[in-house]
Parts: sequence; structure tokens; C-alpha cells
Amino acid sequence: MTVDSWDEGYAFVCLRCGHEWATKYEVRRYRGSGDHEWIVYCRGGQPVRPPHLDLSCPRCGGLRVKLLPTAVSKMDARSDAPNGAPAKISPI
Ligand SMILES: [Zn+2]
Repeated sequence: MTVDSWDEGYAFVCLRCGHEWATKYEVRRYRGSGDHEWIVYCRGGQPVRPPHLDLSCPRCGGLRVKLLPTAVSKMDARSDAPNGAPAKISPI
């Protein structure tokens, strides 16, 4: 079984009172044998409900909360880093 993990930030807005807030999750993707994989959202090392299932306003308790997709930021360390190809030195 392999595990990938990364951080994702989500922003929410309450359609009832207009309150906006953002939460950062640690996302872990487990991959078992075959095509079986599942994703666990964590905060502070504890598994929590996924952001799209945990939609209630912390201020007014309203349930009409919208997830703002523009705020999703993947902070993946495995970006397009240079692969360390040695510089060519041409003989003079
Ligand atoms: Zn609200």
C-alpha cells in the first residue's frame, strides 16, 4: 500500500450570513492493491469529514455553504524541479 499526502486549502462562504472562512486540510491518498484507492482528509493529524461534506457555517450554523473552488491550492512539493542534468563543458 502506498500513501501520498499533500495540503489543500479550501475557502467557504455562507449563503445565509455572508461569512467567509478558509481551512487547510492534509489530504492523504491511500492506494491498495489493484485500483483500490481512497482519500482521507485530516486536520491536526486527525481524520475529519471531507470539506464538501462538512458544510455548516461556524458563525450562524447555516447549512447553505458554498465551497469556493478558486481557493483550492495544491502545495505539491513534487513540482517541475530541474532534474540535475550536469552542465556541458565544451572543450576549448
Ligand atoms: Zn452563516
